[in-house]
Amino acid sequence: MEEHRARKRFGQNFLSDPNIIRRIIDGIRPQAGELMVEIGPGLGAMTAPLVERLGHLHVVEIDRDLIARLHENYTAERLTVHEGDALKFDFGSLGAPLRIVGNLPYNISTPILFHLAEFAEAVKDMTFMLQKEVVMRMVAEPGTEEYGRLSVMLQYRFRMGRLFDVPPGAFRPAPKVMSSIVRMVPLPVEQLTATDEALLGRIVTAAFGQRRKTLRNTLRDFLDEMDFEALGLDAGLRGERLAMAEFVAIANHVAAKGA
Ligand code: SAM
Repeated sequence: MEEHRARKRFGQNFLSDPNIIRRIIDGIRPQAGELMVEIGPGLGAMTAPLVERLGHLHVVEIDRDLIARLHENYTAERLTVHEGDALKFDFGSLGAPLRIVGNLPYNISTPILFHLAEFAEAVKDMTFMLQKEVVMRMVAEPGTEEYGRLSVMLQYRFRMGRLFDVPPGAFRPAPKVMSSIVRMVPLPVEQLTATDEALLGRIVTAAFGQRRKTLRNTLRDFLDEMDFEALGLDAGLRGERLAMAEFVAIANHVAAKGA
């Protein structure tokens, strides 16, 4: 088969280190018969061992050349190929409980994480390779430089852990940055305590919109001095100091006020 030329616009860096591939598959622990979808199978570095262990796998791939190869290499009983953009794909249509894995295209990592968060209720777990810098933001704790909107909104929905780092040399072509493997497990629904999640999202976005400003400024559309007092919150703090539970308390206070 003709050699595939990696397309930058699709964030194509193909895994080529068999040790790393084995470690990722061991981390995923696929069991025969499980419902799983791989985002961006590419040349199939992870697809082959996954199909072997599961018996059947769903994949979502955008690149037509790669899709043609997948059809040549796998029968429909072993692999269901969904042609298209993972950012628009309805992961809920595959059924539940769904496991989602992938060496994600780094140019769309944040939007894809927010898109996937919408299907949390159908998801059993997710294991992804992403650039390390993004993974550090996902798992960041309050008060650190990496802590921001991505940390709060994902930690609201998922328990997350960084499994291990992957150096650029494990890929062809090699990316410029270090990568990490992250595992995300949805939290039980009863732990999701924001009465209005869209409002929580708006408040978190506002709080981190201007990182150097205090909550008094960034949240002025939501809270006045009396609200800060009622919440027992120092208006002179910056958003990066607040834990996720405090953002939820703010959102619920604002929702109750408006009700
Ligand atoms: N899984 C392969 C591996 O580990 O070698 C390929 C990983 S490569 C970093 C990302 C893959 O995602 C490529 O196959 C690329 O074509 C695909 N891709 C890029 N954007 C996509 C999108 N919006 N929807 C679905 N797949 C996409």
